[in-house]
Amino acid sequence: MKQQKTRLAPSPTGALHVGNLYAFLVNWAIARQRNWSVSLRIEDIDGPRKKKGASEELIKVLTWAGIDWDGDITYQSATCTEMNTTLTKLKKLDAIYHCNLTRKEIEDSLSAPHVYPSETSPIYRPDNVRLHNATTPMGQTNWRFVASTHPVSVHDEFLGTVSFTTANDFVLWSKNDMPSYQLAVVHDDHHQGITEVVRGNDLLQSAAWQRQLYSALNWVEPRWYHIPLILGIDGKRLAKRHGDSRIAYYVDNGVPIERIIGLIATWTNTRSTLSAMTTREFLKEFDFTTLPKHDILFTAEANKWLHE
Ligand code: GLU
Repeated sequence: MKQQKTRLAPSPTGALHVGNLYAFLVNWAIARQRNWSVSLRIEDIDGPRKKKGASEELIKVLTWAGIDWDGDITYQSATCTEMNTTLTKLKKLDAIYHCNLTRKEIEDSLSAPHVYPSETSPIYRPDNVRLHNATTPMGQTNWRFVASTHPVSVHDEFLGTVSFTTANDFVLWSKNDMPSYQLAVVHDDHHQGITEVVRGNDLLQSAAWQRQLYSALNWVEPRWYHIPLILGIDGKRLAKRHGDSRIAYYVDNGVPIERIIGLIATWTNTRSTLSAMTTREFLKEFDFTTLPKHDILFTAEANKWLHE
């Protein structure tokens, strides 16, 4: 059997916070327990949101946390040319069309509610994709994928089968001549032989879109594992207003890594009470089957414990 392989795929768009570290640690621990290979791919194609020095910083943090990987670090921006070849392939398959419309214009073009009665996502579809691509002037344009108008289900190894009714013709290539996340991630996962995708459940719906790309390209899709998110005390995504939860901030304030790992251990039901723990101990004790199904709150008590 082909060796199973996962990837840590951070975007260098800001400093790594404790919620990001939790996701990497879980991904890494599952992989090391099951003998999967682990690769580190820096997803640095999001130009405007990319932060200077963030790649170096996240490598430092992973290393500090004792998370290792196999082989060289790869950078997504290095494969943009190949991604364009994949886009051309999809064009030949009539699976994409160029589209100059804005989101608003697409929404307005939805004046035929009987066509997609239950959909709220923007969809605009030329009647004949091939003819449209051959004859409509292009200009600077987005390329959209001809998405399924039927529900698409994802079989998730952790959450079971989840179905999405989405008719969103999502963008694969943007008018500023860059691949979108959806194309880039599928392209690189396929070419890097990734067989297991472990990531936050905020990307579960993306799996429904990504599956369609795998299928159009006749590529084998990976197994999916969408794990709970770490949320601020108000149940919203961890953000600055919840206080500083950047790993760099803890390092600067002398919080030992063992405390952070110990906190992650309670989040993952690895331990029932807060206690300092090494990454090695976490690896030994972690059990993927006990991970909670619901999102996890970063409580004030947990934050206080980190600083004791
Ligand atoms: N680079 C993405 C992120 O940091 C992760 C993409 C993925 O795991 O598919 O959110």
